[in-house]
Amino acid sequence: MSALRKGWCPGALRPMMARDGLLVRLRLTGGRLTSEVARALAALSDYYGNGLFDLSARANLQLRGVDQADLPSLLAALDDLDLIDADPDGEAVRNVMASPLAGLGARRDIAPIVTALEAMLAQDAALHALPNKFGFLVDDGGAPTLAGVSADVRFDVMPEAPDRVWIGLGGTRDHAVSLGFCAPDQVVEAAAHIAHTFLSLAAGHEPPIRRMKMLIERLGAYQTARAFGVEGEMARPEYSGAIFNRPPVGFFSSDDVDVLGLAVPFGRFDHRMLRCVADLADTHGRGALRLTPWRCFLVPGIAGSVDLGALRTQTFIVDPEDPALRIAACVGMAGCERGTTSTHADAAHLVEAATRIGGAAISIHVSGCEKGCAKASRTAFTLVGHDGVYDLVAGGKAGDVPTRRDLDLAAIEAALAAKVLA
Ligand code: SF4
Repeated sequence: MSALRKGWCPGALRPMMARDGLLVRLRLTGGRLTSEVARALAALSDYYGNGLFDLSARANLQLRGVDQADLPSLLAALDDLDLIDADPDGEAVRNVMASPLAGLGARRDIAPIVTALEAMLAQDAALHALPNKFGFLVDDGGAPTLAGVSADVRFDVMPEAPDRVWIGLGGTRDHAVSLGFCAPDQVVEAAAHIAHTFLSLAAGHEPPIRRMKMLIERLGAYQTARAFGVEGEMARPEYSGAIFNRPPVGFFSSDDVDVLGLAVPFGRFDHRMLRCVADLADTHGRGALRLTPWRCFLVPGIAGSVDLGALRTQTFIVDPEDPALRIAACVGMAGCERGTTSTHADAAHLVEAATRIGGAAISIHVSGCEKGCAKASRTAFTLVGHDGVYDLVAGGKAGDVPTRRDLDLAAIEAALAAKVLA
């Protein structure tokens, strides 16, 4: 068994010790899960963990509260479900996000690309030196799109020219540095080239360059493109199709596939909720679930035949306008040793307060500390916990310089009201 690490980006073979026990993170290829496996994971969480899960902003599933003595048995059970990698180093670099509804209906199935990309990352030992948060993304061009999700290396299939894949570095589709286009069967080769080049460009810098964005900040966009072998000005993709901007929650249809999106507040759910989604998929859908970076499950094949009220009472979010979708919160002191505030309870309080004072549309990030695990991007209102209170960062990220310090909930509410009235 590999050594446990604290404060590390965890996996299953290299879990992280948190305040509530071991945190075991599963990187599910393409975010795909059968109802059968979902039910098995619910049982394992109930038996070996504390019954709680997180759905991360990278669409990974985290089992919480596992006792160290139970870890070998849990890993053996996960191995039986084919969810365990060959080794922890290969697991750690297998960070590939994919469009959640790819392959359904008439949509292109990008699973072979994703699987081959993951295999390349796991097998190329030189790439195991990649920083552990360094991530890849493959978007199939359909909705809901990953256009607004940032990645170190992104491959966006052109919706109207599916034999062309745009390569972007260090950002969302609108902000990544363009490296031009490749064919779908060149994605893995391009990814390997980019990853090796990144490692050589990032080597020897102090402070270390851990993300593509940091490299771009250091070199500038123009020189970055050149450093990766691009000559001349690289075209950016042009999109004519509608972009799915709302969270994919509630009933919707995409490329003739009916889907039910079920979000979980702050990405947290328990084993009963996972069983409930698995049963829904079996009873009304196709026996399959997809995980998303928006902290919601997608259940394909369901068309309005489900009682949303009953799901609401189980704390699923089923309304795309629900203000809770605008608030991100990490586990805070309930599960993390760096936390000193009850982030989930405080976030729930702020959802209610924001709605009451007419600020339900404001995006809020409640972070247990300056690390900002729940959200890496800027937010209108970021609260950063320390010593049982919060600092406020306006329009920035958790690690940015606060605009106000040492606020309790009453002071935060007042600041929120002032922002709404401004
Ligand atoms: S942001 Fe939250 S989860 Fe991350 S280290 Fe800080 S307290 Fe822990």
